[in-house]
Amino acid sequence: MKRNRRMKLVATLGPASQPPDMMERLFIAGVDVFRINMSHSSHELATELCNSVRAVGKKHRHAIGVLADLQGPKFRLGEFHSGRVFVNDSAIFHFDRDESLGNAERVFLPHPQIFESVKPGHLLLLDDGKIRMRVIETKKDRISAQVLTGGALASRKGISMPETILPVGPLTDKDRLDLDCALRIKADWIALSFVQRHEDVEEVKKIVDGRAAIMVKIEKPSAIDDLEKIIAAGDGFMVARGDLGVELPVERVPSLQKQIVRQARAAGKPVVVATQMLESMISSPVPTRAEVSDVATAVFDGADAVMLSAESAVGQYPVEAIEVMNRIAIEVENDASYDAMVHAVDLAPLPTGADAIAAASHAIADTLELGAIVCYTATGSTALRVARERPGVTVIGLTPIEETAQRLSMVWGIQTVLTGDPKDLADMVRKACRISFDEGFVKAGQGMVITAGVPLGSPGATNMIRIAYLNEDGLPDGHTSEGPIRRAPGRRAQG
Ligand code: PEP
Repeated sequence: MKRNRRMKLVATLGPASQPPDMMERLFIAGVDVFRINMSHSSHELATELCNSVRAVGKKHRHAIGVLADLQGPKFRLGEFHSGRVFVNDSAIFHFDRDESLGNAERVFLPHPQIFESVKPGHLLLLDDGKIRMRVIETKKDRISAQVLTGGALASRKGISMPETILPVGPLTDKDRLDLDCALRIKADWIALSFVQRHEDVEEVKKIVDGRAAIMVKIEKPSAIDDLEKIIAAGDGFMVARGDLGVELPVERVPSLQKQIVRQARAAGKPVVVATQMLESMISSPVPTRAEVSDVATAVFDGADAVMLSAESAVGQYPVEAIEVMNRIAIEVENDASYDAMVHAVDLAPLPTGADAIAAASHAIADTLELGAIVCYTATGSTALRVARERPGVTVIGLTPIEETAQRLSMVWGIQTVLTGDPKDLADMVRKACRISFDEGFVKAGQGMVITAGVPLGSPGATNMIRIAYLNEDGLPDGHTSEGPIRRAPGRRAQG
């Protein structure tokens, strides 16, 4: 199914969206990638959800992505005697290793690593930052903190320590089991939560070993400090604004969003802007004007994708929310200022064959006012470099590999079609023309740039550019269905 926009849409699955017929409606409305939140999905459910996504993809002959989001090292308090307590401003509160039920002065903290790492002066944020405390003293088995902002505190609420680097790896025991499940069901992307440093990403990449692409959720201050190396290590990134806005002052989130999008785009790796994009649509059929503006900002910034969380997982209007995102993306991408804004990021090509070819195809498509750039791609890497250019024409990724097509569903502007490797150069041009025409990407008389690696079918060796024009039958100009014909010199289709 042809999309009329470049930016991609990710929807989180949950009770509101997981029945297969609802999933299909969401896909038709515009979802490119479905996110399975492993924090709330059993392995049986994750398997069922992934199978349903694949069934929708097969029915519509469309590569739909599956993103399995691992919970990561999330820390929680023990329990209170009465389920919840009230902690007063300026009071001293203690966290300890005593498993008995807590009260308004103390609570059990079942994470020994926190006691090893927290230092006096560090900030503690409880219940998504609603309660704030500053550590005043640490002992082997006790942390004492002064309450800066008090309030009601319930059992098992989350605790985060934005100023503390914790001696924990990227995967908890639960994450390791969930990762096995995600790889078994062949999720296309694995999202890592609460990444602290680039070594975390490298460690998981070794385990995954190319079986899925790794999306790093940027939500910790330490990840921001190590952003350059994290971007070098990951395959894609998510601006996880929910936790980012807990761990850092909320007013820092917009500029960090811009910085992460800019750096990911410069690296040519997909970046997703997530969380509370259409929050009011959880219970309202129309968004607020501020939310529309927020989604539009991500489109103008050239983000690869935007994501719905609770809106599609538990909201009352998941289809309407996707339709709103779809309409905003189309409107913004057709705005007169879009091109200039999206190209405000400095994207000089690297001195590689792939970048030279990506930049050249962009320039050729612009100069000749062609209808598409067609990339034969095995691993998806050439299509990624072309998408990095954010060209004004459709980028078509032709690949024989289903997993490549599904991974590219996350990437700005790429429309993928599965097709076998061409037999020879003439077949390559013929196939590119035929598919672009049949799928409605390019009209008769329009031209296209085709990139490929010769010898054909060898991954990572893009080294060729061709220009082709379509005749009235959707074949390369100069061909009939019987083969090439001779044309008068200088003849060219009307572009
Ligand atoms: C976020 O924190 O913004 C996010 C996307 O992560 P999660 O939904 O897992 O909280």
